[in-house]
Amino acid sequence: MVCHVTVTESGSSRILPSREWAPAATHGEVADPAMQAATLTIGFGAQPVLSSIELPLACQSITALVGPSGSGKTTFLRSLNRMNDKVRHFRLSGRVELYGHDIYGRGVDPLVVRKRVGMVFQRPNPFPMSIRDNVLAGVKVHKVAPRSSYHDLAETHLAEVGLWSAVADRLSDSPYRLSGGQQQLLCLARALAVSPDVLLLDEPTSSLDPVSTEAVEALLVRMKERVSMVIVTHNLAQARRIADRTAFFYEGRLVETGPTEALFESPKRNETARYLNGQFG
Ligand code: ADP
Ligand code: MG
Repeated sequence: MVCHVTVTESGSSRILPSREWAPAATHGEVADPAMQAATLTIGFGAQPVLSSIELPLACQSITALVGPSGSGKTTFLRSLNRMNDKVRHFRLSGRVELYGHDIYGRGVDPLVVRKRVGMVFQRPNPFPMSIRDNVLAGVKVHKVAPRSSYHDLAETHLAEVGLWSAVADRLSDSPYRLSGGQQQLLCLARALAVSPDVLLLDEPTSSLDPVSTEAVEALLVRMKERVSMVIVTHNLAQARRIADRTAFFYEGRLVETGPTEALFESPKRNETARYLNGQFG
């Protein structure tokens, strides 16, 4: 960042990291966030991708990240559980906190971060193993339960996502014969089985039919008391249906964030209003 300029906003003087950067418009505060990005700046080599993101992610809530393609939503999401660490030329400054602790801090094990902050992707990605072993994959890696409880755990987590009756008599089968929607629910069961604090979801329903989408949305809403969630979605109606809070990203900046209804009903920034009205993106 080469260009430091000083501006005045709300009567206070701030040093800005670049000319384009401006603090996001916010609607109200988030008390005791599960996670928090602070002056988070990310790039790949010389290419800047995200600029000084300040975003608290509320506890026991669903936060939606919306914005046109290429805005940096996936990059931001993946920085919340250190999934970018191994990407070539990845660079990050600022902080990402989980309950106040910097997940990029010295001595923090990325595997522990990924157990506490799980992830579900756009395309269902069951592992090449049985349905039962898929549910238990994380449980085994992280040794979160004794072997004797595996059978019960598999049933509990499959039931939790609404899959038990469909798969109870074929737990040893391959997951690849399940429908796309069922595969995504299986991936959710696998992610939830290690009891993460936070679950990250990158367009988890964009490859699913409407009925499966509804099942996934209902599951997320049911689970939010137990796990805080951050979901990237291109589907603004989905954000309105399920997200407590929404954050609008555009060209590597967080433009505006707040409770979903406030953001949609009375956006403070012109860009937000235009995007939410479907005028671009
Ligand atoms: P979104 O999810 O909002 O569509 P992304 O986070 O995928 O946006 O991408 C934001 C920007 O970062 C894009 O310009 C993309 O080309 C760039 N980018 C993403 N991943 C990499 C990478 N591994 N190397 C270089 N550039 C990347
Ligand atoms: Mg993306």
